[in-house]
Amino acid sequence: MTGSDTGPVSVSARPRAPVPSSARAVLTVDLSALRANWARLNQASGRAECAGVVKADAYGLGLAPIAKALTSEGCKTFFVASLDEGRAAREVQPGATIYVLDGLLPGAESHYAGFDLRPVLSSLPEARDWAAYCRARGRRMAAAVHIDTGMNRLGMPEDELDQLAASPDLLAAFETTLVMSHLACADHADDPMNERQRQRFEVLRAKLPPAPASLANSGGTFLGHAYHFDLVRPGIALYGGRAHEGAPNPMQTVVRLAAKILQIREVAPGMTVGYGATYKVQKPSRIATIAVGYADGFLRALSVATGEAGPVGYIGDYPVPIVGRVSMDFITADVTGVPPELARRGAWVEVMGHRVTVDDLTDRAGTIGYELLSRLGQRVYRVYEGVGP
Ligand SMILES: *Cc1c(COP(=O)(O)O)cnc(C)c1O
Repeated sequence: MTGSDTGPVSVSARPRAPVPSSARAVLTVDLSALRANWARLNQASGRAECAGVVKADAYGLGLAPIAKALTSEGCKTFFVASLDEGRAAREVQPGATIYVLDGLLPGAESHYAGFDLRPVLSSLPEARDWAAYCRARGRRMAAAVHIDTGMNRLGMPEDELDQLAASPDLLAAFETTLVMSHLACADHADDPMNERQRQRFEVLRAKLPPAPASLANSGGTFLGHAYHFDLVRPGIALYGGRAHEGAPNPMQTVVRLAAKILQIREVAPGMTVGYGATYKVQKPSRIATIAVGYADGFLRALSVATGEAGPVGYIGDYPVPIVGRVSMDFITADVTGVPPELARRGAWVEVMGHRVTVDDLTDRAGTIGYELLSRLGQRVYRVYEGVGP
């Protein structure tokens, strides 16, 4: 679509799919790249099953299209955070195995059972409640048992695990389809905590009757065979984020974010741009106001004051440095170096994608890709590319 709405803007900034003229910012999610990333993780995990972690609306990218694409690539097991997310996942994936990482909310047993969701039991009281519910229903329903191996967040501490292991009646009341734990430092491949947790997991899981086991998130999946057990649980790497800090990222880019130029201003030397007047123009400049801001997930920490090197966007192959503060609805960029027929009202500026990755942006902003993705705003128009079997 190169109508009057978008104009002759370079293909790399303009979303490839048609978007309505009312769209001010467009998030393009490349489902073929997502599927390729799952296939790569599946291969890396050898004989272990590769699940998909789709909590927080699939890291902000949209649960339904993401779960469907993963299913068509062969993914059969999904992890969500909350019961509500589990229900939403069940609606789009009637045949999948779905684990709820929150565990069992008190009194909500019937909801898990009603939607065929498996609670990840993280404490002895949860295990007791699930067992009691199963007995009352006369059915051994599935659940995972989460053992803490050093994270001290969710998961049974050793004394609770010992009590569970010493209660055959309790264990017999439900079906333990997975014994799992979670790595605290898997984003650093050579952190000794990884091996400590792996060994502790071996010791602790041996206290329970044999059951399929799982330890690895994205980072753990790339730590080698010893970390795979029977099932791996990648999240961020599926979505193109890096699994290991300070290492090359082998995953394909899944997410691109582009926004329209709303206005272009000639700004004279000495004048400032945006809130706080933090950015002072040094030479005659053309400053574009672009329709994406922190309400859309473009982090305010990406603001650029005079003299700072900030992120860049792209109009076609022309880099446009972002200048000034990020505000709720807008960013501003210096488009002085771009031919005026390209940098004009209505043109698309790519602010995240292959050239400026999620990790590039979050390194600058002092956060991680997980946060940027899961905070992408709902007002951004979403396009799913590569849909289909
Ligand atoms: C979020 C989460 C994952 C996925 O982690 P990534 O680092 O995104 O791969 C796996 N397991 C548990 C328990 C989680 O909470």
